[in-house]
Amino acid sequence: MSSKSILVTGGAGYIGSHVVRQLGEQGENVVVLDNLYSGQKEAVLYGKLIIGDTSDKELVDQIIKQYNIDTVMHFAAHTVVPESVENPLKYYANNTSATRNLLECCQNNGIKHFIFSSTAAVYGMLEEGVATEDTPTRPINPYGTSKLMTEWMLKDLSLATDLTHITLRYFNVSGCDPQTRIGQNTPNATLLIKVACEAALGKRDSLSIFGTDYDTPDGTGVRDYIHVEDLADAHITALKYLRNGGESKTFNCGYGHGYSVKEVLDTVQKVHGAPLNIEEKPRRAGDPPILIADCSAIQKELGWKPKLDDLEKIVESSLKWEHKLANKNQ
Ligand code: UDP
Repeated sequence: MSSKSILVTGGAGYIGSHVVRQLGEQGENVVVLDNLYSGQKEAVLYGKLIIGDTSDKELVDQIIKQYNIDTVMHFAAHTVVPESVENPLKYYANNTSATRNLLECCQNNGIKHFIFSSTAAVYGMLEEGVATEDTPTRPINPYGTSKLMTEWMLKDLSLATDLTHITLRYFNVSGCDPQTRIGQNTPNATLLIKVACEAALGKRDSLSIFGTDYDTPDGTGVRDYIHVEDLADAHITALKYLRNGGESKTFNCGYGHGYSVKEVLDTVQKVHGAPLNIEEKPRRAGDPPILIADCSAIQKELGWKPKLDDLEKIVESSLKWEHKLANKNQ
């Protein structure tokens, strides 16, 4: 444990709030900065919540000084891919320019460590379906590009200063915390497991399979689904590594194997115990057939070990969360 504090931007959001909870459970001093655009106050279970914007240099500067911050974990971002295509500048403003401001504050205040929430969307269409960290980055939407630009800024800043950083590229994240206190709240969700769980609970009449003619074993898209608890733990592991003097690195975060849309939907039906109303539709624009993380590097170099690599467990957890949301909204 450190006497210094950790600033978590976007700590009221889905993944950030899980990391805040795990940091809090380990006795870390946490300060959350979130503008509550998509985050929720109640999701912040530990530390101090400051409502404000990452782009507000004066505020960030003051927080770093006042709370003795030496590490920043940066989650605050817009994350809806189709929206990024329609309104790219919104994504470059929040995900790239605001991050540049944050990095300037980090530089001016001698922040030691930075952990950045990146995405598999930096890879774009993969020829082989499996990405290592050395796979060329060719994002196919502004969301992926806006995150990749931050990766580049961080690399350059780490070369020019004493800052060390870890970039984590997330694959398909799902699930909630073990006590069902925090989970995915996104309205108008488009992510498969969330959509399927909403359909199971009657929040939607039906759901669609986008594409049944891919070159995959059952013709539907294959993804690497990771439990949010394991993903949050990867951040804690990265923090320990940087504190022990580790050098700046980029890692994929997934389980290294995938499930098809049909396998996911079969699992949701099995865990829920009732059939879903499923429609087969054409492919969705921009969807690669297969996207799987080669995650051997983070396991070998940081010693990260996933504990919940089990699709049924991920679906159970996601369904529990949807039940909680449904009961709350009754
Ligand atoms: N998908 C689907 N129906 C949906 C949502 C997603 O068939 O309602 C498919 C999508 O085409 C992809 C996989 O499920 O093959 C995962 O998509 P998701 O949007 O969850 O995450 P992405 O991989 O696009 O980030």
